[in-house]
Amino acid sequence: MENVDIIVIGAGVVGLAIASEITSRSRELYILEKEADYGLATSSRNSEVIHAGIYYPHDSLKAKLCVQGNPMIYQLCEENNIAYKRTGKIIVATQEEEVKELENLLRQGQHNGAKNLEMIDEEKVHEFEPRVKGVAALYSPSTGILDVHSLMKYYYKKIKQNSTIDPLILNTKVVNLTPKRDGYIVTTKGQESFSLKTTIVINAAGLYADKIAEMAGIEVDKERYQIHWCKGDYFSLRGKPPVAMLVYPAPPADAYRIKLTGIHAIPDLIGRLKFGPNAYYVNRINYNVESNKEDFWKAITSYLPSIQPNDLHPDMSGIRPKLQRPGESFRDFIIQHEEKKGFSGLINLIGIESPGLTCSPAIAKMVKKMVHEILK
Ligand SMILES: Cc1cc2nc3c(=O)[nH]c(=O)nc-3n(C[C@H](O)[C@H](O)[C@H](O)COP(=O)(O)OP(=O)(O)OC[C@H]3O[C@@H](n4cnc5c(N)ncnc54)[C@H](O)[C@@H]3O)c2cc1C
Repeated sequence: MENVDIIVIGAGVVGLAIASEITSRSRELYILEKEADYGLATSSRNSEVIHAGIYYPHDSLKAKLCVQGNPMIYQLCEENNIAYKRTGKIIVATQEEEVKELENLLRQGQHNGAKNLEMIDEEKVHEFEPRVKGVAALYSPSTGILDVHSLMKYYYKKIKQNSTIDPLILNTKVVNLTPKRDGYIVTTKGQESFSLKTTIVINAAGLYADKIAEMAGIEVDKERYQIHWCKGDYFSLRGKPPVAMLVYPAPPADAYRIKLTGIHAIPDLIGRLKFGPNAYYVNRINYNVESNKEDFWKAITSYLPSIQPNDLHPDMSGIRPKLQRPGESFRDFIIQHEEKKGFSGLINLIGIESPGLTCSPAIAKMVKKMVHEILK
C-alpha cells in the first residue's frame, strides 16, 4: 500500500487554501474530492462577501480568523489578479429602536478588531445610498466582494506550483478511515478506488465533515460535531441595481440564532444585485430555490422601498454546514488536531459556515502550524 504524508479530504475553498499552504516538493500530499471538479459545493454557492468580523462573539475563532482573513484576502486579490471590490457595507436601522442594536454591533466589531467601523446618521445614509430608507447605519468600509472562483483557481495554481505532481484527485469519495498506530488508512470509491496510508488526514469535507470524523471513530453526538444543513435562498433583481454597497438590515433580535444577518442586498462584480440568503434547516441536499418571493420582498422593502415584487426572480441557493441545531445559540468553528481524543494526525474542520470564505487564508495558516507540530 502506498504511504503518503498528508491527505486533504475536500477541495472547497478551505481544503484548497490549506493545501496551498502546506504542499511542498518534499512531502507527498493528495487532495481527494468526490465531485468532478473543485469548489462545486458550498464554495460556489455563497454571497462572495469579504467580511470584516463584526457579528461574531469576541474571542471566537470566527471573529479572530475573519479579522485576520479580511486583509489577507484583499492582499491575495491585489497581488494575483483576483477580481474584487471594496464596496463597503452599511447595516441599516429603519427605526430608532434598532439603533441600539447597531451600537452593540459597533462595540462588538471594534472589540473584535474590525477596521474603521463608524455609525452614520440619516443624512449620510442618504448620501451613500439615496434609495435606502434608514434613520442611521453602521458603516464598514473594509467589507467587500470577490470572485470566489478566481480565488480557488489561485489556490489550486499555487498547489500545483509547489508540487511535483498534480495532487488533486477528482471523482473520488472517501468512504472509510481506519486509524493505525502511526496514521490512517484512507479508502475511496469512485473513478479512483484505492486505499492508501497517510500520516495526517485533514478533514475539510464541508457538509459531510461530521461523517468523515465519524468514519475515523469520533463519537459525533457526544462531541457535538453533528452538522445540521441550513439552506439559504437568493432572489436576484431585474434591471439596474439601486445600490452600490452591500446593504444589510439591522440584525433580528435572535441574531445569534440562525437568521444571523437578515436578507441583505449583495452587488456582484458584473453589475447585478442579489438578495439573500434566508435560513431554514433541511434534511437533504437540493439547490432549488424553495422560498416564497413575497417574504423576500417584504424583508427587502423595509430598507429598499422602491423594489417591486415583479423585479425579483429566484436565483440560487447554498447550504450551510451548521453546528447549531434549530433554536440553539452561537456555535464556533471546530478546527482541531484531535490528538487529545486519541486521534493523532487527524485535523478536523467542522461547521465551516460563513465567514469561512473570508477566513480561508487565516484557517490555512492555522492548520499549517498544526501540521508542522505533527510532522516535527
Ligand atoms: C448561503 C451561504 C452564503 C455564504 N456567504 C459567505 C460570504 O459571503 N462570505 C464568506 O466568507 N463566507 C460565506 N459563506 C461560507 C462559505 O461559503 C463557506 O464557509 C466555505 O465555502 C466552506 O468551504 P469548504 O471548503 O469548507 O466547504 P465546501 O465548499 O463544501 O467543500 C467541501 C468539499 O468536500 C467534498 N467532500 C465532501 N465529502 C467528501 C468525501 N467523503 N470524499 C471526498 N470529498 C468530499 C465536497 O464535494 C466539497 O467539494 C456562505 C455560505 C453559505 C451556505
